[in-house]
Amino acid sequence: MRVLIVEDDKDLNRQLVEAFGEAGYAVDKAFDGEEGHFLGDTEPYDAVILDIGLPEMDGISVLENWRREGRKMPVLMLTARDRWNDKVSGIDAGADDYVTKPFHIEEVLARVRALIRRSAGHATSEIACGPVLLDTRTSKVTLDGNPVKLTSHEFRLLSYLMHHQDKILSRTELTEHLYDQDFDRDSNTIEVFVGRLRKKLGGHYIETVRGLGYRLVNELPEIKSKPAKSKA
Ligand code: CA
Repeated sequence: MRVLIVEDDKDLNRQLVEAFGEAGYAVDKAFDGEEGHFLGDTEPYDAVILDIGLPEMDGISVLENWRREGRKMPVLMLTARDRWNDKVSGIDAGADDYVTKPFHIEEVLARVRALIRRSAGHATSEIACGPVLLDTRTSKVTLDGNPVKLTSHEFRLLSYLMHHQDKILSRTELTEHLYDQDFDRDSNTIEVFVGRLRKKLGGHYIETVRGLGYRLVNELPEIKSKPAKSKA
């Protein structure tokens, strides 16, 4: 999972970057509206945290431009306490939620988790795939109730797969949601991470779809591929 933080207050920007990084996200940051707009327009994010009052281009215009250009990622706005009309304009411009400053970072994290979950079609904070359970609140994974130790990259990859289970995900897509923009990317590493996850979770859940990518499946492949008997 990868998020973008657009906030011109350097301190606040750093706090958000740190908190999201610690929670297991790949994080990109921008300090003005133009830079933020460019990143949101060219990189795929699972969610964006967007301040309204920004230099170069204000947050509402950034958001309007993204939506006009067909960018659909969930956006959480940061608004000033005394500017209720900003909330209205923000939501009308296509924001999915907002938090009023000053806020507790925990609230921003919780709201972003919910936005990412809901945009992937999950209503609860625990996402299951057979006996594999991802608790999005704690960023913990269990297998049959036993904790599974994952590195941050393994966790990001599994989290993305679990949010989008039963869909075929290309290596390019997985790479884009695993690393921030400054990371020296190599899509071959996805194979390595998938191999490690298979070892830790058992081989059945992450299916290789030849030439296309990977898919997290709930059922065991051998049950799925059993030929139907015809009585014709
Ligand atoms: Ca600001």
